[in-house]
Amino acid sequence: MRRETARGTDRPPFTPGERADVVICGASFAGLAVARELAGAGADVLLLDRYDVGERATSACAAPTPWLHAMGVGASIRQELPYMAFTTPHGTVRYRLPWSWSSFDYRSLCELLHAQADARFAHAVVHGRTGDTVHTDRGDVTAPLLVDACGWRRVLADPHVQPPDAPISRGLEVHPHDRGGGDALHVWVDRGLTRRGYGWSVPADGERRVGTLSYDPTKHVKEPTNELARRLAVDAVRYQGNWFPHRLREATEGSAFCVGDSAGHCFPLSGEGIRTAFYFGLACGRELRAVLEGRQDRAAALRAYAAFHEAHRPAFTRALRLQRLIPALPPRVLTAVLHGLRPQGLVDRAFGWYLDQASPAFATPARGATPVAVSL
Ligand SMILES: Cc1cc2nc3c(=O)[nH]c(=O)nc-3n(C[C@H](O)[C@H](O)[C@H](O)COP(=O)(O)OP(=O)(O)OC[C@H]3O[C@@H](n4cnc5c(N)ncnc54)[C@H](O)[C@@H]3O)c2cc1C
Repeated sequence: MRRETARGTDRPPFTPGERADVVICGASFAGLAVARELAGAGADVLLLDRYDVGERATSACAAPTPWLHAMGVGASIRQELPYMAFTTPHGTVRYRLPWSWSSFDYRSLCELLHAQADARFAHAVVHGRTGDTVHTDRGDVTAPLLVDACGWRRVLADPHVQPPDAPISRGLEVHPHDRGGGDALHVWVDRGLTRRGYGWSVPADGERRVGTLSYDPTKHVKEPTNELARRLAVDAVRYQGNWFPHRLREATEGSAFCVGDSAGHCFPLSGEGIRTAFYFGLACGRELRAVLEGRQDRAAALRAYAAFHEAHRPAFTRALRLQRLIPALPPRVLTAVLHGLRPQGLVDRAFGWYLDQASPAFATPARGATPVAVSL
């Protein structure tokens, strides 16, 4: 694999000991959403990541299409998927959704988000934080407003998360070239593959992202992923995988704002974390912007962001209960439930409710209106 991040002296300038108004650690979905929200605020915003923007995807890169358009990244879409299919050992059920998923190209999406921000970017590996100072492999940088968007490791906060002794799931997928993926985001709930988790196939216009996840972090997912690839007659090539949280954590730690997987914003059960990284990234960015514009102080921003995050805890707790319940259901019962949901009115209600848990309307608030959390 070609390594694109410049090494040593080739890396863009980063002056040890420098100061910024905002330092955002992690330039993926969450960090870039925060940076985008700060565009035009006249602040010195520094984005840090160990890799180049868009260099290293760790997900199947499927998100609700309305969110991609609301974030101005529609041009990164590779394939729109109007259907969802669920396969159990006892059959397949296919739904037409009231909205669609889209698979997208990670690099284009990140570049499109980055282009909407006016933040500086520097390569650095973040090691931790003392007060308002972030420690990196290239020296320290200090800012009154710090954002941890580094994903599940939560590097600015203490304690760091150590799998498998943490409420965290693991996922692994392969990316074969294949045109036979159809027009659905396809999910397999099959204990023969993974006892507590599921498998997926996400078509992406000539590529297919096929993988499995386990809610149990002690269970490996390489063999299940290979097995699903075998069943679908696609090559198990170009592996990528990662851990991701399935329990909400604290939104703030000292003076740091945690966003995306760092705060546990990936939905339990579905493992969908891109939309929520956008959603909470925007919420965090709005609070930071109010500080930069002198409308509130940092302490008020930390409180407001933590309250916004906590307002979503009941929905995350319910989803975690379902994550425990559904794998325990006898497969025939689960199949019957999936069949029972087939009437279009039920599909519209169920998937409409699911989208509303982090609605794309949040990305495009009416001019002058104060954004508020959707009711849960
Ligand atoms: C196999 C798999 C498939 C998935 N598929 C989907 C999907 O299709 N749709 C969906 O919604 N969710 C999916 N998810 C979940 C989703 O990927 C995450 O929830 C999402 O990426 C979280 O975004 P984030 O910005 O918080 O963190 P990340 O995307 O993990 O980004 C963290 C960023 O921080 C950087 N970073 C990390 N540590 C450091 C450090 N110490 N110093 C400097 N930089 C650092 C990383 O390089 C990265 O750029 C999937 C997860 C897995 C594992």
